[in-house]
Amino acid sequence: MAMIRIDGSFGEGGGQILRTSLSLSLATGKPFRIENIRAKRDRPGLLRQHLTAVLAAAEVGGAELEGATLGSPALTFAPGKVRGGEYRFAVGTAGSGTLVFQTVLPALILADSPSRIVIEGGTHNPAAPPFDFLERTFLPLVERMGPKVRVRLERYGFFPKGGGRFCAEIEPAKTLTGFHLGERGEIISCRVTGVVANLPRHIAQREVETVARLLNWGRECLTIEETRNSPGPGNVVMIEIASDEVTEIFSAFGKLGVPAETVASHAASEAREYLASRAVAGEHLADQLLLPLALAGGGSFTATKINRHAHTNMAVIAQFLPVHFETRKEDSFIRVWVAEGTGKPSGT
Ligand code: AMP
Repeated sequence: MAMIRIDGSFGEGGGQILRTSLSLSLATGKPFRIENIRAKRDRPGLLRQHLTAVLAAAEVGGAELEGATLGSPALTFAPGKVRGGEYRFAVGTAGSGTLVFQTVLPALILADSPSRIVIEGGTHNPAAPPFDFLERTFLPLVERMGPKVRVRLERYGFFPKGGGRFCAEIEPAKTLTGFHLGERGEIISCRVTGVVANLPRHIAQREVETVARLLNWGRECLTIEETRNSPGPGNVVMIEIASDEVTEIFSAFGKLGVPAETVASHAASEAREYLASRAVAGEHLADQLLLPLALAGGGSFTATKINRHAHTNMAVIAQFLPVHFETRKEDSFIRVWVAEGTGKPSGT
């Protein structure tokens, strides 16, 4: 089969180009070679988290690999047959376990048999989907397409210590059925949760109170979770907005030297932007829905914005699947279509 060539420095130039390629190579059986891996990042090449994703994908799909070493700028990945089953993937650092999970998920929801997976590493990382987002935002939409995917958090893992763990059970579907999600319906519930692992309660308290003040929410929306079930310290604030179609989660992470109020205001401004639009998806959910909808052969949704990440993802997806993407600015959102075919007018 012809080798697909991917330029890892294209567009956003980050890890998503690699992960999308791995996911779709597994799901389609098409081999690929990627060069300039994560060329636009401070530390380019395969970091531990990316290498874990590569090795996880290789295990799930019996793939042959070239260049799968730490720091490698290039990789060749030639998949065999995808097998459902029992898997354990450990990132080994605080690298994101949810991103590793999302890499193998598309192939496993279409596999011949169910899977049970244990993932160890970061469960709540900046610049990655927090576990809660995976569980309550992303996976319910994947389940709408046919498969059943249940996840359970067993231990928190925060940067820099990591060491978290979650489990997943996947019942695949024969085929995926896409969806069309238009304007977001009424908001059913709003909640803000401040999580502190091995850190003082007042951090979470100040965060949830800041969000309540900025979004004008009552005290009944505030939750504080104090936990010692984490190898290291960590803090995340998550703003959860549930409507008929979707539960969106906006998050921000505590960082040494950054006041809790500042952390909370970052999450609140994303939530405010979402509340001001009638879109179903915020920008992160938007970029993550493209791949499953493309695998399903089509669908559409509305999003607050389509960022560079999403545009880069569209281009990589179109190298593996016969689909095209269209976006149109409407009143308070952008409507995104995923459809079969190249999208070029016939005869060109
Ligand atoms: P990359 O930066 O290329 O490694 O990709 C990061 C991935 O994490 C993208 O799919 C983003 O949509 C996702 N992501 C980043 N931040 C968040 C967040 N706060 N909530 C949900 N997903 C996120």
